[in-house]
Amino acid sequence: MGTDFVEDWTIVSTLGEGAFGEVKLLVNKTTSDAVAMKMIDLEKHPKASENVQKEICIHRMLNDPSIIRYYGQRKEGHKEYIFLEYAAGGELFDRIEPDVGMPELIAQKYMRQLMSGVEYLHKKGVCHRDLKPENLLLDANDNLKITDFGMATIFRVRGKERPLETRCGTLPYVAPEVLKRPYRAQPVDIWSCGIILVAMLTGELPWDKPALDCPEYHKFREEQFPSFSPWNKIGNMALSLIYSILKAEPEKRATLDQIHKNRWMCHTFTSNDEKTNCPGSPKRKCYGAGFIDDVDGKICQSQPESLRVSNINDVATAVTHNTNDIISFSQPTHLDDLLLSTQLHFTQSPVNQNHYQKLVKRMTRFFVNTNWETTVQQLCDYFDKQSFKWSINSGMVTITTMDCRNMQLVFKAHVLDMDGHILVDFRLSKGCGLEFKRRFVKIKQHFQNIIVKGAIDTLWLVPTK
Ligand code: AMP
Repeated sequence: MGTDFVEDWTIVSTLGEGAFGEVKLLVNKTTSDAVAMKMIDLEKHPKASENVQKEICIHRMLNDPSIIRYYGQRKEGHKEYIFLEYAAGGELFDRIEPDVGMPELIAQKYMRQLMSGVEYLHKKGVCHRDLKPENLLLDANDNLKITDFGMATIFRVRGKERPLETRCGTLPYVAPEVLKRPYRAQPVDIWSCGIILVAMLTGELPWDKPALDCPEYHKFREEQFPSFSPWNKIGNMALSLIYSILKAEPEKRATLDQIHKNRWMCHTFTSNDEKTNCPGSPKRKCYGAGFIDDVDGKICQSQPESLRVSNINDVATAVTHNTNDIISFSQPTHLDDLLLSTQLHFTQSPVNQNHYQKLVKRMTRFFVNTNWETTVQQLCDYFDKQSFKWSINSGMVTITTMDCRNMQLVFKAHVLDMDGHILVDFRLSKGCGLEFKRRFVKIKQHFQNIIVKGAIDTLWLVPTK
C-alpha cells in the first residue's frame, strides 16, 4: 500500500491504547482502505523515543501474512506516527472466554498461524520477546497477525547468533531463563506461545511468573501430572504439546520444527469435538470465524470531514491536525466488511458505494435500555460498590483497580448516546487482557436486566453525546 495512499484520509475511531499512546483507525474516502495509526507522544513519554525507533527499524523489514504490515512512519513535533495494516477482527484475547478458553479447533488454527509467524520472525533473525494474546490481532477473515515490535530485537546477523541480556516481556508469558539471563532468543518466544496456548484452551494463565517462589509455577515443576486448574481443563493431546514447550531448560524445549509435527497440531478437529480425552471438559459456546457478541456499533457522523492528502506523509500531516476528532461516516462502501461483524440493517438511506464504514469487532460492549444519565450513574455506582477508583470525562469513565495478581488494571467505559440508543463500550488501557475480560463479564452479568438482548439493527446512528 505504501505509496498508494491517495486522498481523503480521515480518523474514524480509536482502536486501542498502547503503552505510549492511542491507536486510531484511518480510512480513505476514495478507496476505503483502512490503516491503523499508532500515535506516540514523545513529550509525555520521553523514554519511548529509542524504543520506537527500534520498533520501526525491525517492523519495516517484515513482510509476511502472519505479521501486521508496516506501511510507514512520520514525526510531527513531539508526536510520532506509525502506519500499520488494520486488523479488523480485533485482539485474540477478545476470543478467549475467561476461565473457559475456546474450542480446540479454533485454538489449533490460531496456534498454527502463530507458529508460522514466529518461524518467519526467527528466520529473519528477529525475536519478538513479548508474545501474548494482546499482541496478536485478527484480520477481517479471522487470520492471526503478530504485532507490537516494541520489545523485539535482532538476535542473528549473517548467521551468527548472539545471546540476549535484556529482561523484557510480560511476566506471566516470559520464559524462566529471561529472569536469569543471558538467554537464547528462539526458545523464549516458543515458551510464550506455550502460555498463549494454555490461555486459549483454558481462559487462564497458569502463573504470575515462572520462578520457584511463585507457588503455581513451583507446583507445576514439582508434579509430573498436575491435576489442578488450568491443567485439568486441557486434553491429553494438547497437554503433551504444552509440556514439551514449557520445559524449564531451553535446550530441552520443543523446537518450531517439532511443534509443527506435533500430534495435536496435526490432528483434524471438528466443530463437535470436546477436548480430546479431557475429563472435565467445560461446555463452551462455539466461536466461529464470525464470532461476535450480540451487538457491535460505531460512532457515526453523517457529514464526513475529509482530509485531502496524496501520500503517506500527507496522511500524517492531515491527521495530526485532527487527532481530537473521532469521525466516521453514515454508510459503508464495502458491505462485506460489515456482514463479517454482524447482521446490519440500515436505518438511513441505502448503501452508497462512495461512503464507507469499517466496524471494529469487539465483544466488550453492549447496548442498554436506560438513558445516558442513568447509565453513567449506574455504572459509577457499580464501580463504587466494587471499590474501583474511577474518574469521568464526557461520558468516558476511566476505572483503575488491581487484578488478582496485584497488577494494575486500567480500563475505560465509554457511554455513547447513538440517536437515543445507549452504547457502553469497554476498552483495556493497561494490564492483562484476560483480567479485563473477566471484569467485563462480571459487569455484563450485573447489568443484564438493562442490556438490550439480541441483534441490534440500528448501528448507523449519530452520536448525540
Ligand atoms: P499497541 O500500542 O500496539 O499495544 O496497541 C494497542 C491496542 O490498539 C491493541 O491492543 C489493539 O487493540 C489496537 N491496535 C493496535 N494495532 C492495531 C492494528 N494494526 N489494527 C487494529 N487494532 C490495533
